[in-house]
Amino acid sequence: MPWSLSQLSKYKQCPSAYDFRHNKKIADPAGPAAQRGTDIHAHLEHYIETGEWGYEVPAFTRERAENMRACGHKPEAKIALDKDWQVVEWNSPSAWVRGIIDTLQVSEPTAAMGEWKTGKVYPEDHERQRRLYLSLLLSAYPGVNQATIETIYVDHSKSGTRSMDRSELLGEQEYWREEAGPMLRDTFFSPRPGFYCNWCPFSKRKTGPCEF
Ligand code: SF4
Repeated sequence: MPWSLSQLSKYKQCPSAYDFRHNKKIADPAGPAAQRGTDIHAHLEHYIETGEWGYEVPAFTRERAENMRACGHKPEAKIALDKDWQVVEWNSPSAWVRGIIDTLQVSEPTAAMGEWKTGKVYPEDHERQRRLYLSLLLSAYPGVNQATIETIYVDHSKSGTRSMDRSELLGEQEYWREEAGPMLRDTFFSPRPGFYCNWCPFSKRKTGPCEF
C-alpha cells in the first residue's frame, strides 16, 4: 500500500492507531472541524477551477486564491511515485508514495504549489508537508529545477513558504526513505499510549478497540 504524509503522521503518533485506521480500515469519524476543512477546501478548489466564488473566505485567503488563479494554478494535483521516485499511475500496484497538492502551477524550470489549512497552525507538521510535497514535485517534473510551496492558513490570514532546489532532491529522497521505512517494515504496530490517547477515536474510553 502506498504511503502518504497523513499516514506517516498517524504512525508517528501511535503505530497501533495507524494500524486500526489504515490496515484494519476502522473508520475514524470526521468531527465538525474536519468537515468544515473539507468544505472550505472544496469551495477553494471550485474557485481555482472556475473563477466563481460561492462561499465567503477571509480577505487574505481570497487574495491568495485570486493571485494563484491569475498565475495559472490548477486544483488537486495528484502525484504517485514508485520506490525509485518515478511517476506511476495513481492506483498502480507499484505506487510507493502519494500526495494530493491543493493547487499547482508548473512553468519550467520553476513550479509553485499552494496548500490550504483551516484550524490551528502546526508548524512542524506543516513544514514536513512542504518538504515532502517539494520532493514529490521535483521528482515528478524533471524539467523543474526550483519549486516553492505556500501554506495558506485560512483562519489566521497568514502563510508559510518553503522552496527547494533540484540540488537538494537526492538528499530529501533519502530522508523520506528513512522516515517511512519503520512504518513500511512494521508488522506489530505496538500501541504507544500517551497524550494523544485523549483524542484517539480507537481508545477504550471512546469504545474503540484499543486497550488504552
Ligand atoms: S488509544 Fe492511545 S495507544 Fe490506543 S491506539 Fe489510540 S493513541 Fe494508540
